[in-house]
Amino acid sequence: MKKLFLIIGAPGSGKTTDAELIAKRNPDTIVHYSTGDLLRAEVASGSELGKKIKSYIDNGNLVPLEIVINTIKSAIEKADKNIILIDGFPRSVEQMIALNEMLKTSKDIDLVAVIEVEVSEEIARDRVLGRARGADDNVEVFNNRMKVFLGPINDIEKFYSKQKKVNKINGERTVEEIVDEMEKIIKEKI
Ligand code: AMP
Repeated sequence: MKKLFLIIGAPGSGKTTDAELIAKRNPDTIVHYSTGDLLRAEVASGSELGKKIKSYIDNGNLVPLEIVINTIKSAIEKADKNIILIDGFPRSVEQMIALNEMLKTSKDIDLVAVIEVEVSEEIARDRVLGRARGADDNVEVFNNRMKVFLGPINDIEKFYSKQKKVNKINGERTVEEIVDEMEKIIKEKI
């Protein structure tokens, strides 16, 4: 049985960095996928699908449901470790429902927990504008990404709280402190 952990948080919360470090600390047991990185890899491949994805990323909008679900499905299928961390998913109620349906029909994957990395909007903005990763790291796109993040977050929290799966952690500390706490949560649950 593969054990799935979802790492969510605002743009700039550090969710990808944190999850990446946990996988690096546990190379034999944990694999990590960042939804944003998987989508950017498709853009970098130069495919027609990548061109379509780019238009959404560049504006800070959500890539359409079917593309994201296919991306998540193939990440889970190719995972060669039993503990899978996926960050940046779900980012909408429809993604959450699609995942829930997928989990109902799949016998070998168990959603263990959803870890939310919390940061204030100011810290998120400073981090994103300071890192200049690409076309989506400017103030207008940041504001839209924040709006897109905040829209469904209460519904997502409520849904997973009912399943007692939500774990919130304070993302305004050093990376080491955050990663230590996240790793502890994961290890307590496996
Ligand atoms: P991130 O690297 O997590 O900040 O994501 C960068 C961009 O990739 C987002 O602004 C979206 O355009 C796209 N993206 C990442 N995750 C998702 C998702 N779960 N659903 C739709 N689009 C996504």
